[in-house]
Amino acid sequence: MARVQIIGSGNAFNMDGRAHACYLIESDLLLDCGASSVLRMQSLHVDLSFIAGVLFTHFHGDHLAGLPFLLLNYKYILKRSESLTILGPRGIQETCERLLELTYPGMTFEFPIHYFEIIPGRDVAFRDKTIRGMPVTHRPESLGYRITWEKDSSRRTFAFSGDAAYDSQLFELVRGVDLAVVELSLVENDGSVAHVALSEVRDGSLRSQRVVYSHVYDELANLARMEGLTVAEDGMILEF
Ligand SMILES: [Zn+2]
Repeated sequence: MARVQIIGSGNAFNMDGRAHACYLIESDLLLDCGASSVLRMQSLHVDLSFIAGVLFTHFHGDHLAGLPFLLLNYKYILKRSESLTILGPRGIQETCERLLELTYPGMTFEFPIHYFEIIPGRDVAFRDKTIRGMPVTHRPESLGYRITWEKDSSRRTFAFSGDAAYDSQLFELVRGVDLAVVELSLVENDGSVAHVALSEVRDGSLRSQRVVYSHVYDELANLARMEGLTVAEDGMILEF
């Protein structure tokens, strides 16, 4: 079975103790790394040394700001020597380097860091996985991802929305995949924020898919469960 672990099921506010956005694909690809991601990975006993790549959806701190602490861990605790690949939307290298320079000025790393900019709609090979970034409506740089790899002789595709509005781009991203993690941020949406609301999901556009909703807080999670939706928890392992 292919495996994705929910590291952080929370939104930007860490409500109800949920960690910021972070998902572990098999054991070697981290998808988003919000500010509290290393804390949660440590409490879940994730082996950070297996991570070979970190893939970012957009540059908000609840998805990105854990990177300095991950790199700090590699430098001082794990004394990493293997290279790390950081992938993300246009501007990924400049954004990460600015973040690192602001938080730990002048810090250098003994392991190579390779940056890779994802061009929407184009497949990128990363180890045994194929990654395709697709635009979603949230920030100008925002990408959702479809990640495909082979497990037990069958090809499995996983989709992750990052933060996204409930619109045709999101539906296109998750169409036909084996498993999708989709953000859920609100009970109702008056149209002023580019996030998914429970009231929107009721239209059933995603019902034919296996979808796990994440980026939540407990009250919203409980309401969603009462409507039959599957909701993420920190540490939850998804097999598909
Ligand atoms: Zn977010």
